[in-house]
Amino acid sequence: MQLSVKDLDYIIEGTKVLDAVSLCVEEGGFVGLIGPNGCGKSTLLKNIYKTYKPERNAVFISGKDVMEMPPKEMAGEVSVVAQENNVEFDVEVLDMVMYGRYAHRRFLEGEKKEDIELCRQFLREVGMEGYEHRMYLSLSGGEKQRVLLARALTQQSRLIVLDEPTNHLDVRYQYLIMQTLKKQKITVFSSIHDLNIASMYCDKIILMDRGRIVAVGRPEEIITEKYMQEVFGVRSQIKVNEITGKIQIYYLPDNCKDC
Ligand code: ADP
Ligand code: MG
Repeated sequence: MQLSVKDLDYIIEGTKVLDAVSLCVEEGGFVGLIGPNGCGKSTLLKNIYKTYKPERNAVFISGKDVMEMPPKEMAGEVSVVAQENNVEFDVEVLDMVMYGRYAHRRFLEGEKKEDIELCRQFLREVGMEGYEHRMYLSLSGGEKQRVLLARALTQQSRLIVLDEPTNHLDVRYQYLIMQTLKKQKITVFSSIHDLNIASMYCDKIILMDRGRIVAVGRPEEIITEKYMQEVFGVRSQIKVNEITGKIQIYYLPDNCKDC
């Protein structure tokens, strides 16, 4: 087993934002985390990659409590694409991606040719070839996001955790990012805003509501008219797309004339 969370609570300013959350992400899985705004998705992910400090004996990666893992060991096991990335000082895109090699370098060791080649390869995969020497802060939101994905993939960990990675991307890059992730031999755990994207790529979906896990299952078991109404408060119609064979959701606003 790759990632497991056991009975995790997290309190922010007196409010229980995570309430007894337990889950597991098996090796090789592509697992999506969905739920309404404010339900605790980012808080859960931050506990996993230790932006927040989880309780001991609650978050395990490859069987080890993350609180027992030093930063370098953690970086070898899990790569992260977080939602907010506050960059303190500007660097060239290639250097930004090179940070992903941190776990693989020894103290004071220089950049190896193979590392640079790997960085270039992942920049190509995310459609950012030719941007190697641009300054990171001069990029658009979507371009930054793609560079951060390249950086995470360059880390070559077995698990990648992402927080709504396709936000701010136009539709072509939303699919390019998901496709790029799908192609890797890596376990994926990602919060996903767009339910049609979740249905297209995930083999398992975890549904959260108000700090708790409500349901876990295959996309067709979770993205249902019932859960959309109960958890998101939205009427919907769910159909199987003839071409992809995946379920697709259509939202039905309350004042819709014929529905
Ligand atoms: P999601 O990612 O599902 O939209 P979050 O995990 O960001 O939700 O937030 C969960 C809840 O915790 C929200 O109600 C949010 O307002 C609250 N919250 C998150 N961070 C803080 C904070 N630093 N201070 C106070 N409340 C917070
Ligand atoms: Mg969030």
